[in-house]
Amino acid sequence: MTPVTLPTKCYIHACAACGCLFETGRSDALTCSGACRVRAKRNGTIQRLQAVAEGVHVSAGAILRARALDELCPEHAASIISGEKTFDDLTTTIQAAFAKRARQAAAVQEGA
Ligand SMILES: [Zn+2]
Repeated sequence: MTPVTLPTKCYIHACAACGCLFETGRSDALTCSGACRVRAKRNGTIQRLQAVAEGVHVSAGAILRARALDELCPEHAASIISGEKTFDDLTTTIQAAFAKRARQAAAVQEGA
C-alpha cells in the first residue's frame, strides 16, 4: 500500500508587525517571526488587530490574509468582496504571486 501524503495548507499573510508577506501553515498566524510577535505584543499592535477583528466578526488571520491579497493580487479583491470567490479559491493565484514576488526579490538581491 502506498502511503498518502495530504497537502498541507499554506497561507500567505501580511505580518501584523512589519507588514512583510510570509507563508504559514496556520490560518491564525499574525506575525512572521518571534521578534515581530514580541514587538507587536509589546506595542499593542496585536491587541488592536484583535479588537478590530472582533468588531467585524472575522479572524485576525483573515484580516492579514486580506492585506496580503490586496498587496499581491488587488485585481481579485472585488471577487472576494462580492462573494464570487473565497480566499481558498484564490490560494493558487496568491501563492503564485507570492512566489513571483520572492523570485523578483532574489533577482534584485543577486544583482546588488
Ligand atoms: Zn514581521
